[in-house]
Amino acid sequence: MELYIHIPFCERKCAYCDFLSMPATLQIQRAYVEKLIDEIIGESGGVRAYEVTSIFIGGGTPSILPGEYILGILQAAGDYFDIRKDAEVTIEINPGTLDEHKLECYREAGINRISLGLQSADDWELKVLGRIHTYDDFLKSYQQVRLAGFSNVNVDLMSALPGQTLSSWEKTLKKVTMLRPEHISAYSLIIEEGTPFYERYGTGEKAFPPLPDEDTEREMYHMTKTILEEHGYHRYEISNYARKGFDCRHNTGYWTGVDYLGLGIGAASCISGFRFKKEGNLNTYLEMASRKDFPSCIYQDIQKLSVREQMEEFMFLGLRLTEGVSGAEFHQRFGQNMWNIYGNVIEDMKQQGLLRVEYPIVALTEKGTDLSNYVMSHFLLD
Ligand code: SF4
Repeated sequence: MELYIHIPFCERKCAYCDFLSMPATLQIQRAYVEKLIDEIIGESGGVRAYEVTSIFIGGGTPSILPGEYILGILQAAGDYFDIRKDAEVTIEINPGTLDEHKLECYREAGINRISLGLQSADDWELKVLGRIHTYDDFLKSYQQVRLAGFSNVNVDLMSALPGQTLSSWEKTLKKVTMLRPEHISAYSLIIEEGTPFYERYGTGEKAFPPLPDEDTEREMYHMTKTILEEHGYHRYEISNYARKGFDCRHNTGYWTGVDYLGLGIGAASCISGFRFKKEGNLNTYLEMASRKDFPSCIYQDIQKLSVREQMEEFMFLGLRLTEGVSGAEFHQRFGQNMWNIYGNVIEDMKQQGLLRVEYPIVALTEKGTDLSNYVMSHFLLD
């Protein structure tokens, strides 16, 4: 099983962000962490049989918290869950929120993977995004992380930004590969409803700075793959690249259907075919945390997935991986032949050049990766 721990605090909200995150006083942060630890303890009873293979502390900006808070959270997890000795333990960090003491606490807490949110190496693009840091701030944080001895580092990047050109994206990729992080995530910006970017770009009206058009966005995607491969990174998922041996275990677990438990506000879980999430309002969460039936009282949208839904999910998530899905694994999980269920779709997609089949493996082709939403939509079962 994997644990996801949500820290919903940020210094301020970025213009494109629809994650569950907000600024908060130190007092609120402390109250949240106390309740989060209660939640960790409360949840551990129900999942005693599970061994935890990875922990991901995400946000928000987990590095905004004092280092001792992170230490306390992970000590509670270590005391109450069966955590495998070689578990991958990641924390998300944003430049401008880090210091050496925090890094010492992370090491003491057993964190062995750092994920740094950079997005762009161009200060003007960072400003348009509403990020709190410059590229130099990132360089400083990156150096601090390395000096503190962390040898597994991810850098998050984002393409298709307002005003971004192919040449500025190329510069970002080249600057970052020169630093030799072990892992790079490179997603395209999505304009989400309810964000300042949606007001500016969601209406279809022309806005400044303009978003790259669809063709440029695809060119950026292909450029990413080419440049990162030239520098020794393999693409193991649609938007994730790693040097040999550094695929993210936590995310790969998610794409291959490993059970996960989410802790903290809004966190999603999927355990033994049951999907649910936690209360998403911070004040309500804090209030409910004093109830006797906490944490079960903060469960929401509990849903038992049918076998067909689990099959769909297996295909949607598994096809994101470069290595694709395996018919043998499908049979092992569902006791049914993948070709009996999806044979026609697989053949049709193969004919269109969108899937490659190397029995018993099925994976997206390059063209299929470009049209992944179209391909996935055919794996819905009626
Ligand atoms: S740092 Fe991340 S979570 Fe926080 S506001 Fe910006 S995009 Fe959202």
